[in-house]
Amino acid sequence: MSQPKTLALVAHDGMKEALIEWARPRVEQLSQHTLYATGTTGGRLISELGLDVTPLKSGPHGGDAQLGAMIAEDRLDALVFFIDPLSALPHDVDVKSLLRLAILYDTGLAVNPTTADALLTHMDTPV
Ligand code: PGA
Repeated sequence: MSQPKTLALVAHDGMKEALIEWARPRVEQLSQHTLYATGTTGGRLISELGLDVTPLKSGPHGGDAQLGAMIAEDRLDALVFFIDPLSALPHDVDVKSLLRLAILYDTGLAVNPTTADALLTHMDTPV
């Protein structure tokens, strides 16, 4: 186990089930890290998996923007962001902004279960 990292978890409505099912068998691994999430995603991670997560505002109400600010302030190491590829989102500009900042600041970024596994492995690998 390497140093605990700060990880944020976000899933759009159509992807929340996928995120919960990805996280379920990884609760122990995830709980080694400091976790944040957008509001609704965080609520489900807490109530369904018992994870110790700090919930921010709901994504469409500024939660994505809060995570972008955390990245810009160097307070977030990694982001698991399950974006719904099949639905238009009212806060698309916030989604794009968050992705842009994650790229700009070289933040670990995963957008589906396969890349989330790769990210978690990377986070748990001592440098
Ligand atoms: P939510 O936000 O977890 O509050 O649903 C996710 C998002 O839409 O960015």
